[in-house]
This record gives sequence, C-alpha cells and structure tokens, in this order.
Amino acid sequence: MLDVKNIRQDFPILNRTVNGKPLIYFDNAATSQTPQQVIDVIVDYYTNYNANIHRGVHSLSQEATDAYEQSRLKIQNHFNAKHSHEIIFTSGTTHGINLVANGFSSLLKKGDEIIVSALEHHSNIVPWQMLCERTGASLKVIPMNNNGELILSEYEALLNDNTKLVFVNHISNALGTINPIEKIIEKAHAVGAAVLVDGAQSCPHIKPDVQALDVDFYVCSAHKMCGPTGVGMLYGKEAWLNKLPPYQGGGEMIAEVSFEKTTYAGLPHKFEAGTPNICGGIAFGAALDYMNAIGFDAIAEYENDLLDYGTTELLKIEGLKIYGTAKEKTSVISFNVNSIHPYDIGTILDKMGIAVRTGHHCAQPIMDFYNIPGTIRASFMFYNTKEEIDAFITALKKAIMMLS
Ligand SMILES: *Cc1c(COP(=O)(O)O)cnc(C)c1O
Repeated sequence: MLDVKNIRQDFPILNRTVNGKPLIYFDNAATSQTPQQVIDVIVDYYTNYNANIHRGVHSLSQEATDAYEQSRLKIQNHFNAKHSHEIIFTSGTTHGINLVANGFSSLLKKGDEIIVSALEHHSNIVPWQMLCERTGASLKVIPMNNNGELILSEYEALLNDNTKLVFVNHISNALGTINPIEKIIEKAHAVGAAVLVDGAQSCPHIKPDVQALDVDFYVCSAHKMCGPTGVGMLYGKEAWLNKLPPYQGGGEMIAEVSFEKTTYAGLPHKFEAGTPNICGGIAFGAALDYMNAIGFDAIAEYENDLLDYGTTELLKIEGLKIYGTAKEKTSVISFNVNSIHPYDIGTILDKMGIAVRTGHHCAQPIMDFYNIPGTIRASFMFYNTKEEIDAFITALKKAIMMLS
C-alpha cells in the first residue's frame, strides 16, 4: 500500500491554497506536480554545474554531460530499450511525433496509407495530416464505440499492403481508455507497417516495456510524470532511427561540416540538434527514480481504487453522465451534468480551490462523436486522496445548485 500521507509531503505545491481554499489538484492529465526530490535536482544543476554538454573540455561541462547521459541510461532502463542510443531526448511528446512524421516524409509515396485512431490528441492528428499533404499518402481512422473503446474488427479491415504506419495513443487523455496496443502492434506488423505509440498518458501510470511490446516508436513527456516541462523522449528501434533522416540541422547532430557536404553524427545525436534542455533531461531521470521508488504496481493499484471510488460517487449525482466507460481505463473521469456548460462548473470549482480541466481536451473528434462541446475532466495521480474526491463532490453539488 502507498503511504500517501508521506508522499504528499514530497509535493510542496499541495500545501498551498487557491482562492482561500486548500488546493485540490485534479488536472494531472494536463500536467503532473513536481516532488521536492526533482525540484532539488533542478536547483542543484543551476546552482552547481550549469554548462553546455558534449563539447567542453572543462570540468563543469563534463559533469553536466555525465549527468545528462546518466539520465539517458535511466530512461533506457525504465523502458527496457535494447540500446541507450535508441533513446532520443525531445522537448516532449509533440516534438517526438513530429520528428517521426517528418522522417517518414521521405519514406512514403502516393497510395500509401497511415492509420490513426478516433481517440487521438490533436498533436497526434495534425502531423499526420501534414505528412499526407506532403507525400500524397492517405489517412484512415480506427473508429470507436460508445464506451470510448477502439473497434478492433474495423481496425483489421483497414489494414492492407499499403498500410505503412499506425499511430495510436496508449491511453486516451480525454477519456482514459487504455488501448490494446499489443494487438494493434501485432496486426500492423503482420502487414509490414510500423507503429508509433503516444505514451503521454500511459507513462504516469504504467511502465511500458518497449521490447516486450515490440513497438517501433514510443513517445512521452516528462511533465506528465513528475518531471519538468519542455523535455520528453522518443524511443525508436535502432533500425528505424537509422532509416529516418535528421529532423533539424544544427550543432551536435553533425560529424563533419563543409560547404560541400555535411555528414551526420550517429545515434542518438543525429536527432539532437542544438543545445538541449540539459537540466530538464537530468530532472527527467530524477522523476523516473522518484516514481520507481514508489513502484508502478502500487501506483496503479492505488489509482484504480481512486477511479472506482470517484466513479461510484459521481454517478450518485442526478443528471451526471460519464464519457469514456471502457473496461480498461486509468484514473481519468470525463463528465457533464445535464446541459450545464463544463466551463461554468470549472469556474465555480476553481473558486473553491479545485483544479479540473474543462473543454475538448485537444481531442475535438471525440467531442464531435458524443455531440458535446466538451467535458469536465478530473484526473487523479497517486498523491490524490478519497478525502479530496469527497470535497470535490461536495463542491460540485454546490456548483450544480448555483447553475440550475
Ligand atoms: C499531453 C499529450 C500530448 C502532448 O504532449 P506535450 O507534452 O504537450 O507535447 C500528446 N498526446 C497525449 C495523449 C497527451 O496527453
């Protein structure tokens, strides 16, 4: 069992008040909070060894390089990648997806097909539309059912010899659905297509094993898993990363440069042009250390309990409808109450110190599917409690009364 009382002590922000009320932070699917252990690493970096990496002969540069590369090894370990050079530091999930989409520009031709899912975040739709425009490839969509689950038989019907890429999120940010990516990957590989999985929502809750999944590309953001913003990682199988051209040109990503010809550096540097978010990369490793010390099994068990409790309690409210009722889901609850606009409820909750997300959650196609403008989304992390859920429900009932 988690010692949540102690864990909460690690998060200084959880002690603050908002509008005179203790903060209840239920917007974890947008960004998670940062424990003191990670904040300390950030402060230590800028206090003691801030320097540019991979180029200086001096001691500070060496220390920063060592810490940065140590963090890459931690990430490799965490995701069970075969090689550390299969881990590319990015600025986040969006960057990782665009890096792969850009790389496939040179590998696709007219007539090729890309499959995405109906459950995608905008950052996983727009880059593929842009890629299709550049290459003449076409985009197909795996539909979902009313529970917010992908319909696998329809997916199988979309697959054929022209399918070159499949893109799907591991967990939907809008609904919390855990997608059956093992099956999705296996079926894509059967027709020779590569698969990129968007792990932005899964990595805070589960620990993916990229080799066991046999996934070709996997991306995530540190800021959704107790790390800082502006850093994330792209995992790619070595063979794929070698096949893709560099994304950006600049320092760090070259072997030799002349005006006649430039040769590129090997992996991972080929994809890491320019000075990266060094401190962020180091802090990302510290965030993984922090979460692993708690343990992902314990985290999943505790959060599932919060999800069950929150779902049961919310459904007692008359006129409340939950969107996303998949059998397999994480601690995200998207809902509406009667025809009250989500924004109005969100605003009143904020007055009571409660942070939830309202709107389309960067997933407008899902909202169109349900024919709603948006939802209220409460998303829990392992540092949230049932007492907070109780306070949230009391506040929600007040808001409903005021708005009815
Ligand atoms: C948050 C999120 C993204 C985008 O992540 P950034 O950190 O903003 O790049 C992409 N996909 C999903 C599923 C997300 O939840």
